[in-house]
Amino acid sequence: MKVFVTGGTGYIGSHTVVELIENGYEVVILDNFSNSKPEVLDYIYKITGVKPKFYEGDCCDKEILRKIFKENEIDSVIHFAGFKAVGESVQVPLKYYRNNLVSTISLCEVMNEFNCKNIVFSSSATVYGDPKELPLKEQMELGKTTNPYGTTKAYIERILSDLSFSDKEWKVILLRYFNPVGAHSSGLIGENPNGTPNNLMPYIMKVAIGELPYLNIFGDDYDTKDGTGVRDYIHVVDLAKGHLKALEHLEDVEGVKIYNLGTGVGYSVLEMVKTFEEVNNVKVPYKIAPRREGDVASCYADSSLALKELGWKAKLGLEEMVSSSYKFILGQKK
Ligand code: NAD
Ligand code: UDP
Repeated sequence: MKVFVTGGTGYIGSHTVVELIENGYEVVILDNFSNSKPEVLDYIYKITGVKPKFYEGDCCDKEILRKIFKENEIDSVIHFAGFKAVGESVQVPLKYYRNNLVSTISLCEVMNEFNCKNIVFSSSATVYGDPKELPLKEQMELGKTTNPYGTTKAYIERILSDLSFSDKEWKVILLRYFNPVGAHSSGLIGENPNGTPNNLMPYIMKVAIGELPYLNIFGDDYDTKDGTGVRDYIHVVDLAKGHLKALEHLEDVEGVKIYNLGTGVGYSVLEMVKTFEEVNNVKVPYKIAPRREGDVASCYADSSLALKELGWKAKLGLEEMVSSSYKFILGQKK
């Protein structure tokens, strides 16, 4: 089975490529390195002993997409390529709408041309908006997204749903990720964003290695166990495995299926900091700062549908998340 992975050198993409290769899939990657580095391909080779076929280019560009489909008999596509920085999407919305929407539309048009109609898409818990009820379930009505990035995810879900409605040959799985953290056990691939991180775990990692002086905890007066925000952190390797389960299930899908990929357990910011410190025996100084605009108090998944229908369940716990993150960032420092 040949799988085309857009954005396959990125954080979640690279972990998924490793799992795909280790499970006997042939992988073809397209990435323009807008948020990843060519070295990731060497690391994938080091981990798996296989060099996946790679094309450097833009997923909005139908010519390179046609070339890829001409040169490879693709069975299914996993579409990761897109921009994901929430704050930046508020500053430069058109950049986000163009990249995330045009890449998806171009991809689907070319898939249609080549009669490949199987797609797994990276959606996000952000489409639920401010949760009215917890845990979040797939069939809940979607809330109002709070930023252009989230809106692109909601639009793409709609586009793919309309497409599958118009042509019953399309098989679509939308995976709504909760908060992916952690790194591969080799320490070779992980998440190391350029500049100051926006997300909690990369920020903690940079504080732990002394690259940033302290963590700002955005609010300690939420209605949560200790007043700090609660999220459903999921190990990126578990998340990657979820994509394999989705691929296996794609054949049986009629139209669109949606699955939450989370652990179902919410941890607070303070719990994340304390666990990181204890497991890694390192200090993570922090200060309490005002709430961050657009943040919700708590967000966690009901992932029972993924267990029931895909046979998928997150297995790795918080300790593995924080220890693999630390191992990865220490390796980056060298
Ligand atoms: P990432 O930025 O590490 O990976 C995305 C990859 O896509 C990068 O390698 C980037 O270079 C590439 N890319 C972007 N635009 C492209 C284009 N037009 N053509 C070719 N390549 C392009 O991000 P990630 O964390 O691995 O996320 C993967 C997907 O999952 C994204 O769609 C993201 O929105 C979604 N997602 C991520 C999270 C998260 O917290 N990491 C949560 C929910 C959903
Ligand atoms: N957070 C924080 N300090 C940071 C980054 C994040 O206190 O520097 C908090 C944030 O308010 C939220 C949690 O950590 O409660 C997770 O935030 P992240 O940006 O990682 O994910 P998301 O907001 O997308 O759930």
